[in-house]
Amino acid sequence: MSQVYNWQLGRPMAYPYEEKHPARQFAFVFNTNRCIACQTCTMACKSTWTFAKGQEYMWWNNVETKPYGGYPQNWDVKLLSMMEETNPGAQVWNGAPPEPGKPYGVFEGKTIFEAAEKRIGPEGGQVAVGYLPTEAEWRHPNFYEDTAVGPAGVRNQINSAGSQLPEHKTWFFYLQRICNHCTYPACLAACPRQAIYKRPEDGIVLIDQERCRGYRKCMEACPYKKPMYNGTTRVSEKCIGCFPRVEGKEPITGGVPTETRCMASCVGQIRLQGFVNLGPDGRWVEDRKNPLYYLIHIAKVALPLYPQFGTEPNGFYIPPRWAPRGYLRQMFGPGVDAAIDAYTIPDRETLAVLQLFRRDQRIIFRYEIEPGEKVFETTIRGRKFELYNDTVIAFGHEGQELFRVAVEEPFMVRPAQHANSI
Ligand code: SF4
Ligand code: SF4
Ligand code: SF4
Repeated sequence: MSQVYNWQLGRPMAYPYEEKHPARQFAFVFNTNRCIACQTCTMACKSTWTFAKGQEYMWWNNVETKPYGGYPQNWDVKLLSMMEETNPGAQVWNGAPPEPGKPYGVFEGKTIFEAAEKRIGPEGGQVAVGYLPTEAEWRHPNFYEDTAVGPAGVRNQINSAGSQLPEHKTWFFYLQRICNHCTYPACLAACPRQAIYKRPEDGIVLIDQERCRGYRKCMEACPYKKPMYNGTTRVSEKCIGCFPRVEGKEPITGGVPTETRCMASCVGQIRLQGFVNLGPDGRWVEDRKNPLYYLIHIAKVALPLYPQFGTEPNGFYIPPRWAPRGYLRQMFGPGVDAAIDAYTIPDRETLAVLQLFRRDQRIIFRYEIEPGEKVFETTIRGRKFELYNDTVIAFGHEGQELFRVAVEEPFMVRPAQHANSI
């Protein structure tokens, strides 16, 4: 058992494994506001890594509709209920304003590790509160998620009293999920074979296929349910962070660090992946011009998924603007209101950094902004908003320029002879 500092909780916490940190950490930002649930990311991962026998049900990348959906079904509702049972009424944040080392205040409840101290699972003591999903729960990703419901209690009928587009009486949003390559992985801590390890070079969490015996303790302990059991090989598998690509072994990009398959294929341009530098205690080292550092620690527009679970996930989300705030605060923590404000009325730098998403598949290590002319001004919700046509320049691992893009899209005028051409 180690005492570690979890910056997402704003406090130290108990972690049932040795503390060790990589020099740099695989991390990513997903902008939920832009996802169209086309599942291209899902298929890019599937066709690259999980097309073999025994992997049929595996979707290392999945996109689910909230609040109805989940893969495995109801994974988060189940775990949140278990946590509430373990620590009734006390899974709360202290409501303090952000301060260095505590960007979301302090979580006063229990993490999955702390709550496990007294809890005995079906097979004895657990290192983390968790459960093993049933086969049925894994079987249907996206089951009924986007299906209109009929009147309550009546089968096979469409609800004709429902509202019409473009006005909805209900809400939903898409949640994109891969392994979070957590700083304090529950899967790793729970493995009795010590078959799971975090790579010292980039913090990617992998399962050693030789050491694993398929006990599925990782599946039980991972709060995000991202390790999956292969019934053919009888060992567990999980997202590998496309490590050959991030290492720079992708020939298409000429051997430079390249974003993962699910990131690079994103049609909605919602994804940005890279690395962040860590100090010896696992806290992020200031790196002002790294786009991930900027979005997460300076603009605070992207937030961790269920930080209260305590694994310190390295996946961050720009929350959707239209969903109820209470629901979002439970999912992304107390930073939700500030993050939505920062996204809805972005400042000059945030607007420029948001242009970096999916302009290239080579990993961006640094950006610079060249100031441009002011082109527009308005008021949004009582606040002044100014649009500058700045140019943001992305740099790669050796400081080489990757691309540059302006905030305002260029105007293309079709020549008169092609006015009716498509
Ligand atoms: S998301 Fe789950 S599988 Fe991935 S590192 Fe975290 S605990 Fe392990
Ligand atoms: S990072 Fe690679 S292995 Fe992981 S979900 Fe994305 S495509 Fe699949
Ligand atoms: S490819 Fe992008 S837009 Fe399409 S479902 Fe995946 S994350 Fe969403």
